[in-house]
Amino acid sequence: MAKRDYYEILGVAKNASDDEIKKSYRKLAMKYHPDRNPDNKVAEDKFKESKEAYEMLSDADKRAAYDRYGHAGVDPNMAAGAGGFGGGMGGGFADAFGDIFGDIFGNAAGAGARGRGAGGAQAYRGADLRYAMDITLEQAAQGYETQIRIPAWDECEVCKGSGAKPGTKPQTCPTCNGHGAVRMQQGFFSIQQTCPKCHGSGKFVADPCVACEGLGKTKRNKTLEVKIPAGIDDGMRIRSSGNGEPGVNGGPPGDLYVEIHIKGHPVFQREGDDLHCEVPVSFATAALGGDIDIPTLNGKGSINIPEGTQSAKTFRLRGKGIKGVRSGYPGDLYCHIVVETPIRLTEPQKKLLREFDKSTREGGAKHSPQSKTWFDKVKDYFAE
Ligand SMILES: [Zn+2]
Ligand SMILES: [Zn+2]
Repeated sequence: MAKRDYYEILGVAKNASDDEIKKSYRKLAMKYHPDRNPDNKVAEDKFKESKEAYEMLSDADKRAAYDRYGHAGVDPNMAAGAGGFGGGMGGGFADAFGDIFGDIFGNAAGAGARGRGAGGAQAYRGADLRYAMDITLEQAAQGYETQIRIPAWDECEVCKGSGAKPGTKPQTCPTCNGHGAVRMQQGFFSIQQTCPKCHGSGKFVADPCVACEGLGKTKRNKTLEVKIPAGIDDGMRIRSSGNGEPGVNGGPPGDLYVEIHIKGHPVFQREGDDLHCEVPVSFATAALGGDIDIPTLNGKGSINIPEGTQSAKTFRLRGKGIKGVRSGYPGDLYCHIVVETPIRLTEPQKKLLREFDKSTREGGAKHSPQSKTWFDKVKDYFAE
């Protein structure tokens, strides 16, 4: 059969740019790709043909030779023209296809850490495990050592890890032919994925071991020491290397991540390495000033508030927060004053307060500057 003209195959003009050639080939390759046309001989031939044309025309030397001598200039069977493309036509398509689509496929086909395990099937790293741990604010501040129970696996004693019933053997997986992976169609592209039938092992157990249900391993729990560093914050994770699920086909195990959740605290709110708390103060103490008790993470403390302290006033105690797990420096403690209005007063107490109120009113605005400012604002507002 006479060979078709390469420009004709790609549907481009003789003077087409490299870009036009690439674009056109890309279109044809997608249309006729074997993964999109299974068992279609015509499509396969078209795919090979366009691939060959692209290989020639995308190479400046080969294209020049072809332009000059036609097929004789580049046909390896003619042993003429620009040499150096042995291996030639009709072979695999991965090379040229890989070049042009490499940027799209990216790492999809090779994602994940894997290597070759025994028996040819691919080795996969085990899955990571997550363990959620609730701790108190005090434990987070001071550091905490504890033990947790996590799942672990042992080789099944009955089948010695094969997963097959004693006396039988695992077969080669029929879905992936023992490769452990299959090509899957995703939109235009085909992507290599772990075989859904054998989960990458490449083996298929027709008669599974009863003791392990064909897994070849049995689950037990193991105890792990966990050291939570002082200063850890909510949502942080601690990695325990190699304590995740075991790998497949000799692949490495995954990691265990202990995710920290700090329980709510009745007194303190944490913001980074700082602590905040509300401190209720009687209105007499707020007015007169004096020493008041405050809470700290290490127990009771005391501060002196000045005369005339208003509600919402904040006092900062340097270094009384939490020592940061990263910074290594302690944060601050912020005490937010809440002036408390007295309730359930007795008649004599009320009488005293009325007298007190009368005397401050006689003093005019000087005892209550906030009220004065507020009244002035409201007056202006109504005047407009
Ligand atoms: Zn077993
Ligand atoms: Zn399989």
